[in-house]
Amino acid sequence: MDCIFCKIINKEIPSFILREDDDFLVILDRFPASVGHTLIISKTHSEDIFSIDRGILKKAMPLALDVANKLRVLNFDGLNIVQNNRKAAGQTVFHFHMHLIPRWEGDSVPINFAGREVSVEELEELRDRIINA
Ligand code: AMP
Ligand code: ZN
Repeated sequence: MDCIFCKIINKEIPSFILREDDDFLVILDRFPASVGHTLIISKTHSEDIFSIDRGILKKAMPLALDVANKLRVLNFDGLNIVQNNRKAAGQTVFHFHMHLIPRWEGDSVPINFAGREVSVEELEELRDRIINA
Protein backbone atom coordinates (compact mmCIF):
# COMPACT_ATOMS: atom_id res chain seq x y z
CA MET A 1 0.00 0.00 0.00
CA ASP A 2 1.31 3.42 -0.93
CA CYS A 3 0.52 5.28 2.29
CA ILE A 4 2.97 7.94 3.41
CA PHE A 5 1.95 7.69 7.07
CA CYS A 6 2.42 3.89 7.06
CA LYS A 7 5.90 4.53 5.68
CA ILE A 8 6.57 7.07 8.44
CA ILE A 9 5.34 4.60 11.06
CA ASN A 10 7.56 1.88 9.60
CA LYS A 11 10.47 4.37 9.63
CA GLU A 12 10.89 4.04 5.88
CA ILE A 13 10.50 7.82 5.70
CA PRO A 14 12.10 10.06 8.34
CA SER A 15 9.96 12.18 10.62
CA PHE A 16 10.34 14.37 13.68
CA ILE A 17 9.00 12.11 16.41
CA LEU A 18 7.73 13.65 19.63
CA ARG A 19 6.30 10.51 21.13
CA GLU A 20 5.50 6.91 20.29
CA ASP A 21 3.47 4.17 21.94
CA ASP A 22 1.82 0.90 20.82
CA ASP A 23 -1.08 2.67 19.13
CA PHE A 24 0.14 6.07 17.93
CA LEU A 25 3.07 7.96 16.51
CA VAL A 26 3.19 11.67 17.31
CA ILE A 27 5.25 13.77 14.90
CA LEU A 28 5.77 17.35 13.80
CA ASP A 29 3.87 18.18 10.62
CA ARG A 30 6.33 18.54 7.73
CA PHE A 31 4.35 21.51 6.32
CA PRO A 32 3.13 23.23 9.49
CA ALA A 33 0.18 25.60 9.57
CA SER A 34 1.72 27.12 12.69
CA VAL A 35 4.82 26.62 14.82
CA GLY A 36 4.49 23.30 16.63
CA HIS A 37 1.78 21.87 14.32
CA THR A 38 1.71 18.25 15.42
CA LEU A 39 0.13 15.09 14.04
CA ILE A 40 -1.14 12.16 16.09
CA ILE A 41 -1.15 9.20 13.71
CA SER A 42 -2.69 5.80 14.41
CA LYS A 43 -0.23 2.96 13.94
CA THR A 44 -2.76 0.75 12.23
CA HIS A 45 -3.85 1.89 8.79
CA SER A 46 -7.46 3.08 8.87
CA GLU A 47 -8.55 5.61 6.30
CA ASP A 48 -10.52 7.80 8.63
CA ILE A 49 -12.75 7.99 11.71
CA PHE A 50 -15.38 5.79 10.05
CA SER A 51 -13.09 2.80 9.87
CA ILE A 52 -10.76 3.18 12.85
CA ASP A 53 -11.08 0.76 15.75
CA ARG A 54 -13.10 2.30 18.59
CA GLY A 55 -10.67 1.08 21.21
CA ILE A 56 -7.86 2.99 19.51
CA LEU A 57 -10.07 6.02 19.04
CA LYS A 58 -10.83 6.09 22.76
CA LYS A 59 -7.13 6.54 23.46
CA ALA A 60 -6.69 9.36 20.96
CA MET A 61 -8.14 12.26 22.92
CA PRO A 62 -6.34 11.61 26.21
CA LEU A 63 -3.12 11.38 24.19
CA ALA A 64 -3.98 14.64 22.42
CA LEU A 65 -4.33 16.27 25.84
CA ASP A 66 -0.94 14.97 26.99
CA VAL A 67 0.71 16.20 23.80
CA ALA A 68 -1.12 19.54 24.04
CA ASN A 69 0.27 19.94 27.54
CA LYS A 70 3.79 19.34 26.22
CA LEU A 71 3.20 21.90 23.47
CA ARG A 72 2.44 24.49 26.12
CA VAL A 73 6.21 25.06 26.26
CA LEU A 74 5.64 27.07 23.04
CA ASN A 75 3.48 29.54 24.98
CA PHE A 76 0.59 29.41 22.54
CA ASP A 77 -2.52 31.50 23.12
CA GLY A 78 -4.85 28.79 21.85
CA LEU A 79 -4.92 25.35 20.28
CA ASN A 80 -7.03 23.79 17.52
CA ILE A 81 -7.56 20.04 17.43
CA VAL A 82 -8.57 19.18 13.88
CA GLN A 83 -9.39 15.82 12.34
CA ASN A 84 -10.30 15.70 8.65
CA ASN A 85 -12.31 12.90 7.08
CA ARG A 86 -12.48 12.45 3.32
CA LYS A 87 -11.41 14.73 0.50
CA ALA A 88 -14.35 17.11 0.79
CA ALA A 89 -13.32 17.85 4.37
CA GLY A 90 -9.75 18.61 3.38
CA GLN A 91 -8.21 15.21 4.08
CA THR A 92 -5.12 14.69 1.95
CA VAL A 93 -3.50 11.72 3.65
CA PHE A 94 -5.99 8.90 3.92
CA HIS A 95 -4.70 7.36 7.13
CA PHE A 96 -6.36 8.41 10.40
CA HIS A 97 -4.68 11.32 12.14
CA MET A 98 -5.42 14.30 14.34
CA HIS A 99 -3.87 17.74 14.04
CA LEU A 100 -2.79 19.77 17.05
CA ILE A 101 -2.33 23.33 15.83
CA PRO A 102 -0.97 25.87 18.32
CA ARG A 103 -2.44 29.33 17.80
CA TRP A 104 -1.39 32.86 18.64
CA GLU A 105 -3.58 35.93 18.77
CA GLY A 106 -3.88 37.44 15.28
CA ASP A 107 -1.99 34.61 13.52
CA SER A 108 -4.66 34.30 10.79
CA VAL A 109 -4.23 30.53 10.40
CA PRO A 110 -7.20 29.66 8.13
CA ILE A 111 -9.13 27.29 10.37
CA ASN A 112 -11.88 29.42 11.79
CA PHE A 113 -15.16 29.91 9.94
CA ALA A 114 -18.14 32.21 10.00
CA GLY A 115 -21.61 30.77 10.48
CA ARG A 116 -24.60 31.66 8.32
CA GLU A 117 -28.11 32.63 9.33
CA VAL A 118 -30.61 29.76 9.15
CA SER A 119 -34.27 29.54 10.12
CA VAL A 120 -35.57 27.72 13.16
CA GLU A 121 -37.61 25.55 10.76
CA GLU A 122 -34.50 24.44 8.93
CA LEU A 123 -32.82 23.45 12.17
CA GLU A 124 -35.94 21.61 13.38
CA GLU A 125 -36.16 19.61 10.15
CA LEU A 126 -32.47 18.83 10.26
CA ARG A 127 -32.63 17.74 13.90
CA ASP A 128 -35.47 15.34 13.10
CA ARG A 129 -33.69 13.88 10.06
CA ILE A 130 -30.56 13.19 12.05
CA ILE A 131 -32.31 11.85 15.14
CA ASN A 132 -34.48 9.52 13.06
CA ALA A 133 -31.65 8.20 10.90
P1 AMP B 1 -4.86 16.10 6.21
O1 AMP B 1 -5.01 17.22 5.22
O2 AMP B 1 -5.78 16.22 7.39
O3 AMP B 1 -4.95 14.75 5.54
O4 AMP B 1 -3.42 16.28 6.81
C1 AMP B 1 -2.27 15.71 6.27
C2 AMP B 1 -1.10 16.41 6.89
O5 AMP B 1 0.08 15.65 6.66
C3 AMP B 1 -0.83 17.81 6.32
O6 AMP B 1 -0.88 18.77 7.37
C4 AMP B 1 0.58 17.69 5.75
O7 AMP B 1 1.34 18.86 5.93
C5 AMP B 1 1.14 16.52 6.52
N1 AMP B 1 2.21 15.80 5.87
C6 AMP B 1 2.28 15.40 4.58
N2 AMP B 1 3.42 14.72 4.35
C7 AMP B 1 4.07 14.68 5.54
C8 AMP B 1 5.33 14.11 5.95
N3 AMP B 1 6.13 13.45 5.11
N4 AMP B 1 5.68 14.25 7.25
C9 AMP B 1 4.88 14.92 8.11
N5 AMP B 1 3.71 15.46 7.77
C10 AMP B 1 3.31 15.35 6.51
ZN1 ZN C 1 -1.38 4.12 6.22
